[in-house]
Amino acid sequence: MRLVILGGGESGVGTAILGKKKGYDVFVSDFGKIKGNYKEVLIINEIAWEEEKHTEDLILNADVVMKSPGIPDKSPIIKKLLAKGIPVLSEIEFAAPFTDATIIGITGSNGKTTTTMLTYHLLKSAGLNVGLGGNIGKSFAWQVAENKYDSYVLELSSFQLDGIVNFKPHIAIITNISPDHLDRYDYKYENYIDSKFRITMNQSEEDYLIYDADDEAIAEWFKTHTTKAKLIPFSLTKTFSEGAYIKNNKMEISINQEEFTMDTEHIALEGKHNMKNAMAATSVAKLMQIRKSTIRESLSNFQGVEHRLEKVLKIQNVQYINDSKATNVNATFFALDSMNTPTVWIVGGVDKGNDYNELMSLVREKVKAIICLGVDNKKIIDVFGNVVDMMIEVDNMNDAVRMAQRLSEKGDTVLLSPACASFDLFENYEDRGNQFKQAVKNL
Ligand code: ADP
Repeated sequence: MRLVILGGGESGVGTAILGKKKGYDVFVSDFGKIKGNYKEVLIINEIAWEEEKHTEDLILNADVVMKSPGIPDKSPIIKKLLAKGIPVLSEIEFAAPFTDATIIGITGSNGKTTTTMLTYHLLKSAGLNVGLGGNIGKSFAWQVAENKYDSYVLELSSFQLDGIVNFKPHIAIITNISPDHLDRYDYKYENYIDSKFRITMNQSEEDYLIYDADDEAIAEWFKTHTTKAKLIPFSLTKTFSEGAYIKNNKMEISINQEEFTMDTEHIALEGKHNMKNAMAATSVAKLMQIRKSTIRESLSNFQGVEHRLEKVLKIQNVQYINDSKATNVNATFFALDSMNTPTVWIVGGVDKGNDYNELMSLVREKVKAIICLGVDNKKIIDVFGNVVDMMIEVDNMNDAVRMAQRLSEKGDTVLLSPACASFDLFENYEDRGNQFKQAVKNL
């Protein structure tokens, strides 16, 4: 069996290792350059590879192809493979049959990483032999090849889900759905929504789907579709006999006739969106039979993930918060929503078709000054120019932070939550967040 892998990154090399171990004739082809450390792995394992080209003779003879999630279906090589009827799978589809571990799959537009890390923390702290993978950290296929975990917590993007056929998580989470990556979905929101729901398409009666019952796109989907999985909704506004909700500042979870209650003030994560993430992750912990006292302890000591509403420093009684990972309006909505003090807001970058009006009432209520940090800030200025008293443009992080300091007073918050991608002025969101933190430390 010939396994061709397109893309020599983490998931590609991980799949190559697993394929080789399982006796496939493996070939890795990358249209760009393969990183040095991955090349070494391929060479040591005697796996054939090429870079900066796709040699069709070596690819179109595949029995099965694994493509990295970054490669769109529209690319010429994928079109040719599909025209020949060769299956093109994602890493999780290829790897899952080689493990009988319990799979927990987490998808959604926002909150995937936070929910995945928190779920992992809950299971790991309870002593389970659990792996973490998908879009985070080490490749799932690589771990399947080299580790023996009893369960996996996997962060799954819609691109990973597009490449599944039989993949079936025992527990699935859809954190929420809002428009994103529409360029990969023919600019049709329905296609993107359907892609997220692929996570449940192979689930059966003994499986679970945990989802945000406050989410409009999810509610719409359920009007015309069904799943066999048992449903576990979570909500900030409704209550359920089976599900998770917040009432009187308590998180209440009721699953399979078992109850779990915890004061939200003892949950270390802050903000409404994080209460949703906590409900989703805790529902998994309950399904995995983790003891209540262990769950409580883990929820109270989980400090969140870098670049997601990350508290940096308090300087002259001004709190600086790094939410560089907020690359769309929905994420920034929840960041502004969780502000309790007057806020100097650093926003801007590469806009993926944002509708800033969704933020209008929060900006009126909480934002005293806006610092535009992007190459093109016109839309932001047009929308909020008359709404806040102070608005300035800068083109680097040091200036942004220095201006923020000047415009803030004791008791305020300075929030970097750009609602935009970062690549006009930064390498990626991590670079943007790290520059912010450094600039704050230099104040
Ligand atoms: P993802 O992996 O889906 O991008 P992250 O956990 O990395 O999600 O968070 C991305 C951004 O979205 C951060 O700015 C974070 O504060 C915000 N966020 C986290 N959880 C949610 C949620 N449930 N709803 C909306 N925004 C969220």
